[in-house]
Amino acid sequence: MKPADIETFYARLAAAMPDPKSELEHTTPYELLVAVVLSAQATDKGVNLATRKLFPVANTPAAIAKLGVEGLEEYIRTIGLYRGKAKNVIALSQILLEQHGGEVPRTREALEALPGVGRKTANVVLNVAFGELTLAVDTHVFRVSNRTTLAPGKDPLEVETHLMKVTPKKYLANAHHYLILHGRYTCVAKKPLCWKCPGYDPCGFKEKKKFAAMKPVDEAPRAILPKGEPAPKPRATAAQAARKPKAKVKAKAAPAAKKPRAKA
Ligand code: SF4
Repeated sequence: MKPADIETFYARLAAAMPDPKSELEHTTPYELLVAVVLSAQATDKGVNLATRKLFPVANTPAAIAKLGVEGLEEYIRTIGLYRGKAKNVIALSQILLEQHGGEVPRTREALEALPGVGRKTANVVLNVAFGELTLAVDTHVFRVSNRTTLAPGKDPLEVETHLMKVTPKKYLANAHHYLILHGRYTCVAKKPLCWKCPGYDPCGFKEKKKFAAMKPVDEAPRAILPKGEPAPKPRATAAQAARKPKAKVKAKAAPAAKKPRAKA
């Protein structure tokens, strides 16, 4: 993407998302750190369901360390890989208590030294909790950056380095949110919703026209059917509708000729 297109792309995303936020529920840097560690290969929704029960009971390094691995597992067993994650969260909580006075450190080095915390997690915590201009590259950010040609790269670090170079400074604080939310809800993996994409014009995706043609003809909200009523057929896309042959119009029957009146 050319610099002018990059500016337009971010400007459009910023206009569409005036107040972007992390979808991981948290109220402190420690809650955020725990939530991000739990979210690896899991959905934010699933993590929120677990932390809504966990955090009211334990939301500090001391309280969670006190739960122990098995105690923590009880709260997070609905999340994938929960055994390993429970071990990491207990271990990182103990390190925070022993080495950081129970606080979440504000440097990348100290964060990445914690169990279960990699570059992506450190970037999220630094950006979301401490307002640093970092850009975490997850699966959504990676896909959007490559597909749109915003910041192509063969691995997350290459994409992150590229993004940091091309993203205008005024968008850096929120760039992670813009790209992750855009990838999660619009520029989705299988069939990107190009037909309703605010970044359509500057986007460099070669197939965007094809996906833009998949706009549903009828965008009315799905009706709630009374019980027993059959579900409606799937909606046709604009492209499908264009291919449908037009229904033949029946020729009107000619009106019957009037009989001449018989003379009296
Ligand atoms: S136009 Fe399509 S491919 Fe490009 S950013 Fe939008 S949704 Fe993604």
